[in-house]
Amino acid sequence: MNNKLDFRYLLAQFKLISKRFLLQNCFLCGASSNQLLCTACLSDLPYQTIVCSHCSKPLDFTKHSSVDGLCNPCQQNPPLYNNAQAVFSYIYPIDKLIFAAKFSDNLAILYLLGKLMVEHLQFEPCPDVIIPIPLHPKRLRQRGYNQSVELAKCIKKFTGIPLNYNACQRIKNTPPQVGLSAQQRKANIQGAFKIKKIPANWQHIVLLDDVITTGSTVESLTKEFLQAGIQKVDVWCCTRR
Ligand SMILES: [Zn+2]
Ligand SMILES: [Zn+2]
Repeated sequence: MNNKLDFRYLLAQFKLISKRFLLQNCFLCGASSNQLLCTACLSDLPYQTIVCSHCSKPLDFTKHSSVDGLCNPCQQNPPLYNNAQAVFSYIYPIDKLIFAAKFSDNLAILYLLGKLMVEHLQFEPCPDVIIPIPLHPKRLRQRGYNQSVELAKCIKKFTGIPLNYNACQRIKNTPPQVGLSAQQRKANIQGAFKIKKIPANWQHIVLLDDVITTGSTVESLTKEFLQAGIQKVDVWCCTRR
């Protein structure tokens, strides 16, 4: 980390710690609350309900037929990863919380979402390691932190599952995927990652991301890890569109 990155990160950490000791208003509805979200907003969060058993995409029975709990794309051309789990649907207020967590240095939101992921993800069979999707160093310098790393740190803290952010690097500074078609996203992310040395005892890894849209990023990284000799790749994400 360079000095500028250190400073941004420390400032965000300071905001996070000070919020724990101060009375504040609910981030969403403004009601007085001693936590980031009041009890009502917390209980209204949109947890995923009926989803594809492979990719965790919400199943829409009005548009697709589901066979064995799989969405149409997973029936025809299943992703390479073993299984994906997502905790929330990408609708209000999760979209608002994720946006604030990414672009307003609001680590308190990531800490809360990380804790809720711990409460709702299935951790068995337990992976050897969690790998947060890396940001390109340039993007990391701009933002000051990687939101997926912050979520993963929280999961490590409560589960003890090791965390690694050196096994792979993002070598291509891809433009944001927002607004691109599925095909464009796939082309955009191609060659974006480079796997470094993998410890011999890793067989089962988990890729952790904050938001999954088409899944092209996790699919691309899964392919790299499988080619590098990893046996099984699962995906955990906070929210799935
Ligand atoms: Zn509220
Ligand atoms: Zn699916």
